[in-house]
Amino acid sequence: MTAAPDALPPLAGLQIARLDWRRDDGDEEVPHSTAFDDVYFSRHDGRAETEHVFIHANRLPERLKVWQEPRPFVIGETGFGTGLNMLCAWACFEAHAPPTARLHLISTEKFPLAREDLARALAAWPDLAERAARLVAQWPEPVAGVHRLWLDDRVTLDLHFGDTTERLERLDGRVDAWFLDGFAPSKNPEMWQPELFAAMAARSRPGATLATFTCAGVVKRGLKAAGFAWRKVPGFGRKREMLAGEIAVPPEDRRRGATPWFTPPAAQPARRVVVVGAGIAGTSVAAALARRGVAVTLVDREGPGSGGSGNDQGALYVKLAADTNPQSRVYLAGLLHSRRLLEALDPERELWRPCGVLQLAMRDKEEARQARFLAHHPLPERVVHGVSANEASRLSGTPIDHGGLYYPEAGWVRPAALCRRLAAMPGVEFRRAEVVEMTPEDDGWTLEMADGERLAADQVVIATAALANRFAQTAALPLQPVRGQVSRLTLPEGTPTLERVVCAGGYVPPPLDGTLTFGATFAPNRDETDEREADHAANLAELEATLPAFVAALREAGATLEPGALAGRAAVRAASPDKSPYAGPVPVAEAWAADYARLAKDATRVPATPGRHHGGLWISAAHGSRGLASAPLCAELIASRICDEPLPLEAPLVDHLHPGRRLIRDLIQGKQDAAS
Ligand code: SAM
Repeated sequence: MTAAPDALPPLAGLQIARLDWRRDDGDEEVPHSTAFDDVYFSRHDGRAETEHVFIHANRLPERLKVWQEPRPFVIGETGFGTGLNMLCAWACFEAHAPPTARLHLISTEKFPLAREDLARALAAWPDLAERAARLVAQWPEPVAGVHRLWLDDRVTLDLHFGDTTERLERLDGRVDAWFLDGFAPSKNPEMWQPELFAAMAARSRPGATLATFTCAGVVKRGLKAAGFAWRKVPGFGRKREMLAGEIAVPPEDRRRGATPWFTPPAAQPARRVVVVGAGIAGTSVAAALARRGVAVTLVDREGPGSGGSGNDQGALYVKLAADTNPQSRVYLAGLLHSRRLLEALDPERELWRPCGVLQLAMRDKEEARQARFLAHHPLPERVVHGVSANEASRLSGTPIDHGGLYYPEAGWVRPAALCRRLAAMPGVEFRRAEVVEMTPEDDGWTLEMADGERLAADQVVIATAALANRFAQTAALPLQPVRGQVSRLTLPEGTPTLERVVCAGGYVPPPLDGTLTFGATFAPNRDETDEREADHAANLAELEATLPAFVAALREAGATLEPGALAGRAAVRAASPDKSPYAGPVPVAEAWAADYARLAKDATRVPATPGRHHGGLWISAAHGSRGLASAPLCAELIASRICDEPLPLEAPLVDHLHPGRRLIRDLIQGKQDAAS
């Protein structure tokens, strides 16, 4: 292993590929890497080479033609480069696979191309233009981590940005066919190491194939040692030989040695899933499952988006810790994920606006925290950068006395409307009812409703925020209710506007349809939902402290800034003790308490027993007030797990979100009562 898989480096931007454009044999322009002194492809015969080396040597047309599994066929690649191989694999899938089949592409990349270079490189292939455009439009910022792109209804691409071996070691997913690419071993010796082949082997499905353009000794030896059988086959063009091969029985995945409790439950059928709770967490899961062809019944005692996700307008933003921690990683990944999802779901931007978010540093302590964050996290400017008070004023369109952090890609969302949109996706059936009890059956679950009706499901996802631990199976998961009230001010004609979302203690998005929404209060352990004048007063005070000049301008324009004149809405959010969401399978708390009891005496004596889970029961909850950034990614995580697909997050972060993490922590700290 190059690094312990849970030792995450700081959140950082990646170095962009440095290219020059050369003329190849046919006098055509081709991208050439200055760092590796190698070309990405030959314009003259790059397509034919991809087809020969990767597509046909993996027998993709034959295998895709007969693909009948409910799970997608998974291709893994080392070195995404221009994406030519992956676009060709997508074309091959479309040409050969049956209409019910799905394709999942995974590719690593340490030096992503700049978006303009990607577009320019792919312009070489006019017949791939439409596919290239889908890729270029979603091309992520160069941030280490997993970026999930929806190429079309049936084809997903996960870009694992970072070093190939490191990324594959953290991949939670298994591959059917490998494209072993990357610059030639002689030009890129660091990549072609034994650890790479071992990571590939451990993430292979039984019978997984591989193909590579090279016959270098280091590759042959590495593949063999990892358990791949290979043979030399005719290479492309001037290259006499290349390698094709397969793995008969993949080696056992030993990653779980230190954390057996997080071993995921075996995949089971998911033809009909009930999702309980229709806020942003539940509607996101429902939509993610429906997209995969699962029949979903979404149940809520009120309508979609009526609880904590029921505001007209909310901020899509995150607060990242000064020192790297898994929570910040999840939230940054979540922000970028939500951003891409919204772009795909609503290109007309009826439901959201990526107007940018300013996070002001109003106090010295916060200023120091932000400075420390920036010093430790060299992220791309488009993701976050520091701004002065002058820049904050220019960006927001109103005088601001403080500098802060600026997130250009963040913005605001209409959460209630988004929930309604997701709940109305084809394949999702909404049902107004209150689930009071869940009973496991031999082949799934029976859910009992308050009105006495029953619902049967193969699997169930609980997404009812602060009520999520009201069921017998989830009762051991600690959740704290947090009351929050937003205030709404109707603006008179001619009021000055605000160009960005501004956050400090609370948040203020730009006005929408003549209404300024701001808030929210934060009252832990309170679960009342009545609207209170005192909360409006607190929101007003916060608004005035954050944006005094804007408030003065509002007054001048005739706005009535009195607590009694404001409208608003209070709702209850839910938080976990460590403030990260719960997203994953529901542990059997009593079984964990028994199986891992000896951790209380000695935390280093880890039993080999895999974690026992309530079969087919999942939870997405504890999203606090950042659900817009966390819930869609958590939904994708759960849907991917249910449908036996690679996950959209690296394994340590998947573990960080595991609903059982607290049970283990409490066992280790000797608080066994908490888990029994
Ligand atoms: N498959 C690509 C395509 O279809 O365009 C071409 C791949 S290009 C020849 C090799 C790629 O591997 C480059 O984009 C390079 O940045 C990437 N690469 C090289 N070493 C790497 C490493 N250690 N980890 C991740 N990517 C790496």
